[in-house]
Amino acid sequence: MLIFGTNKFKLKHAPFKGHRCVRCDREETAIKIFGHYFHIFFIPIFPLKKSAIIGCKSCKHINAPNEVDQSVKDFMKSAKQSVKQPWYAYSGSMLLFLIVLGITISSKIIAHNKTEKIMSPEVGDVHLLWSNSFGFWEYSYQKVIGVNQDSIWVVRNQIMYEFRPYRMATSDSFDTLQYGTKRSSFANENKILRVYRDYKDDMNFR
Ligand SMILES: [Zn+2]
Repeated sequence: MLIFGTNKFKLKHAPFKGHRCVRCDREETAIKIFGHYFHIFFIPIFPLKKSAIIGCKSCKHINAPNEVDQSVKDFMKSAKQSVKQPWYAYSGSMLLFLIVLGITISSKIIAHNKTEKIMSPEVGDVHLLWSNSFGFWEYSYQKVIGVNQDSIWVVRNQIMYEFRPYRMATSDSFDTLQYGTKRSSFANENKILRVYRDYKDDMNFR
């Protein structure tokens, strides 16, 4: 099955006087104008050229370009120009644009929420930390246990996970050693990958 290629819409179909079918000699022809487009999985991505044909209503013969007069060719050309490609010839591009826009906005919202939660921490917040050592990412957790005017106090679990964990096991619990950090430097903490508010012990992350 083809996953991409070209296809066409019928943009206009109208009776046309002024040409005698070269096969049956009847003046019962119709002009059809097509808009060609590039598709992926049958979703139109962007329009390509337009084309026009003169078909005979009587014998169904499609009159080839060399079978019509120059005046008819000129008419076909101007008819093509007068018909616009439909907006949905861009459906796929618009869809892609909306997806990218959605991802951009939601990642900005997530980043904003994260910064806000780091800047104004609450007791009980759990932070997923990440750091890079010799090209490998390592993950661990810390929990906010105290907040005052100028410092933040956390306890950590001393486990370094090699992959981003999706939950903390009970055995991964935080130890009792408390770390104090100045709020001002905490705000610039880029080691914090994610902040979980209302953390519960059996909570699944992500
Ligand atoms: Zn004909």
